[in-house]
Amino acid sequence: MRQDITDIPVDRLHAVFGALGLKAYSASQVVRWLYKARATSFEEMTNLPQEARGVLREKFFIGRLNPVDVMAAEDGTKKFLFELADGNRIESVLIPSERGRVTLCISTEVGCAMGCAFCRTAKMGFVRDLSQGEILGQVLEVQRSLLSSDRPLTNIVLMGMGEPLVNYDAVVNAVKILLDERAFNLSKRRITVSTSGLVSQAERFVEQLDVKIAISLNATTDGVRDQLMPVNKRFSVADITKFCRDYSKRSRHRVTFEYVMIRDVNDTEEDMKRLPKLLTGINAKVNLIPFNPFPGSTLKAPYETTLKEWQNYLTNKGIQTNIRIGRGQDIMAACGQLAS
Ligand code: SAH
Ligand code: SF4
Repeated sequence: MRQDITDIPVDRLHAVFGALGLKAYSASQVVRWLYKARATSFEEMTNLPQEARGVLREKFFIGRLNPVDVMAAEDGTKKFLFELADGNRIESVLIPSERGRVTLCISTEVGCAMGCAFCRTAKMGFVRDLSQGEILGQVLEVQRSLLSSDRPLTNIVLMGMGEPLVNYDAVVNAVKILLDERAFNLSKRRITVSTSGLVSQAERFVEQLDVKIAISLNATTDGVRDQLMPVNKRFSVADITKFCRDYSKRSRHRVTFEYVMIRDVNDTEEDMKRLPKLLTGINAKVNLIPFNPFPGSTLKAPYETTLKEWQNYLTNKGIQTNIRIGRGQDIMAACGQLAS
């Protein structure tokens, strides 16, 4: 059985090549071909000896995701539906935004096991983790689809389907390749991993990798958060804020707090006043995301005025606060809307 070479962590590639009798430095060449040149065959790797290419062809293949559908929204957002080798489907969203930024939101799992009450992906349940190659494949295929007149990708957020820190190893290894200068060569400030608040995994993650993190907070009390996000029974609001406070002492990165505003559930005046107190001592930024309703959900989007009021209040308290207006809403591409 040939193996997908994009599933091999780059720090293991040298050893794998050595065992096959290939020159160690050819591992670096192959990393460049796969992730910088986006090669789709070993034949293209013309600076490798013919014989080495033959060995690679015999042992490996280069996995590809099959883009079965691309939907473009009026605001320029594009949603990609990819089919995996086993027929499962995942989505990625390309979002051109302010200041020349072009952000790709990628998935890390098929479905999600975390069961958040407001999330469409949760309704699918958990199907399986994505491999390193499937996580990177989303970036590669989207880059291949861009025209030379399109603005290039500048940022990656692991904020699509799935909980990244559940699929821990594949996510860490994929992020290492996004950072690797021989590969995607993205700066650590341009990669954000979003978590529902798995604090112990997050502690380990920030020890290992210096990229940005986002926390889906979504409530200011354990009572409400327990209802919305079952993970809160394992790691409470206080556990999360303590972790972020410690992190802010050690890291220069600002932590993004995502707050999905749900009318009369977590968008009350008391919540608004509690939030800045919770964030004291944290180098924090807040993204207010109006809940995106979907068929079968009884939760409601907040009033426009509530969003504005929260933004003003938090900003006055010195916290940079953005309202993430539902980009790509006409194609159901917004966060929490991804489901195959
Ligand atoms: N599992 C990770 C990353 C994927 S979810 C996490 O939870 O952080 C990405 C973001 O979408 C999260 O901030 C989540 O709170 C938000 N989200 C989920 N469902 C939503 C919905 N229906 N409307 C708006 N945002 C939603
Ligand atoms: Fe999973 Fe994130 Fe959706 Fe919660 S919000 S179910 S963690 S994808």
